Amino acid sequence: MDNQTWSDRLANLTFSTQAVINGQLMDAISGKTFPCINPSNGSLIAHIAQCDEADVNLAAQVARATFDSGVWSQLQPAERKATLLKFARLIEENQDKLALLESLDAGKPISDTLGYDAPATARCIAWNAEAIDKLYDEVAPTTADALALVTREPLGVVAAIVPWNFPAVMASWKLGPALATGNSVILKPSEKSPLSAIFLAELALAAGLPAGVFQVLPGFGYEAGQALALHNDVDGLTFTGSTAVGKKLLTFAGESNLKRTFMECGGKSPHIICADTDKLQKAVDTALSAICYNQGEVCTAGSRLLVERSIYSEVIEKLKQGAANWQPADPLMTDTRMGAIIDEAQMERILSYIDIGKQQEATLLCGGQQVLQATGGYYIEPTIFVDVTPEMRIAREEIFGPVLSVIVFDTLEQAIDIANDTEYGLAAGIWTSDISKAIKGSRALRAGTVFVNNWDGGDMTMPFGGYKQSGNGRDKSLHALEKYTELKSTWIELG
Ligand code: NAD
Repeated sequence: MDNQTWSDRLANLTFSTQAVINGQLMDAISGKTFPCINPSNGSLIAHIAQCDEADVNLAAQVARATFDSGVWSQLQPAERKATLLKFARLIEENQDKLALLESLDAGKPISDTLGYDAPATARCIAWNAEAIDKLYDEVAPTTADALALVTREPLGVVAAIVPWNFPAVMASWKLGPALATGNSVILKPSEKSPLSAIFLAELALAAGLPAGVFQVLPGFGYEAGQALALHNDVDGLTFTGSTAVGKKLLTFAGESNLKRTFMECGGKSPHIICADTDKLQKAVDTALSAICYNQGEVCTAGSRLLVERSIYSEVIEKLKQGAANWQPADPLMTDTRMGAIIDEAQMERILSYIDIGKQQEATLLCGGQQVLQATGGYYIEPTIFVDVTPEMRIAREEIFGPVLSVIVFDTLEQAIDIANDTEYGLAAGIWTSDISKAIKGSRALRAGTVFVNNWDGGDMTMPFGGYKQSGNGRDKSLHALEKYTELKSTWIELG
């Protein structure tokens, strides 16, 4: 596919902009819309239905009625599996369109959305579908005059609130297990990236998912999101986004019906390179992709690079050389590795952190500027600060952009102390050729995922989520299915 072809396709791209409620595309009840902006050039893509509390009330009522009817919740798992597999197939068949929507809406490189986002979305739905008719419940070991069953039942109505950095993939991490276990799901995409969620709902309906099982409410967090989180007829709330919003949602759950809450939040992940690694070049290349991939807008971005003193100068030199390969460019060019920042506000936030780094006297090794201004889009160079100390704000706060803080250490113990000295605990990584160090280090790192001699390894079989303020609950793997179910104990006395 050459570059021209993707631009041509964009010119001919059609997509829906309305909410999906009870199987129908609908305007918001208020009639309001909000603008959806293309981050690559600042232009208006479309006006999107701006759902609020009234739409949430309607969708929740529909979801409850659909759930209670049993049309999905009571289906035999094998039947749900068949429909979800069809849904996954339709995503696969439409993956070019899904990839293009993601690039258009979120500024992500088309090579990434084609290579990861679109196929990963389909794979997640299919994986959960495949799992659901292979899970058994339990019989407790009781006395002979009783039969005690431990069974799982769907929660009921699940609200999923997701961010903009991987709009379709994050949605699929919620949809896959929640739908497979029989829930009715209301998805609220980020107001910054609503297009793929609406498209997914259309594909689900085409696959035969009954109306009302999967609804989409585009809108703002403080309107649609908050109304979902406070709704007394929403039984489960599954979220991916910032820690600040995650904390608010826990409060909303407490103020309303104590709905089950699963928060996947932010990170400031440490990436350690020990001097004994025999893969130094690979470690440095990986350190760069860990902060530049998806413009650094990744919850598991390796944003703190901890380097052992004896290789510090060499690593810095290699980082500087390698950063040149990550210059941002038009997301629709197939050779673009880093695309546009999601919007102007996020770009300004990243630039303000770059200023903070300079003010706190970290050394700017490279980058630090907005580039490609003439496009009207939001692009930032890969930016590397060296001589960063652990107490600096750029070493502590999630920036969510291509800004790397490099910190020197002398011993592994010191590196682990620095790595763990954070409110977050999503991911961590260690490069070493010493197996004992690798194992001891990975045990000591307080993070939901530890990468040894890689970064971002994993697939659907592995749980994903955080320690500490990076969240609770886990997405992916069979463990994710558990959170969309209630556990029921049934004690049957035998006559
Ligand atoms: P965000 O918290 O600003 O928004 C996430 C979602 O919450 C959006 O849909 C938004 O509309 C909604 N929201 C905002 N305020 C709300 C409110 N008051 N009530 C209800 N809903 C509300 O996050 P973002 O900027 O979209 O995404 C970036 C964040 O997501 C980063 O912190 C990143 O680390 C995190 N993230 C975490 C993971 C993970 O799996 N742990 C994955 C991807 C992103």
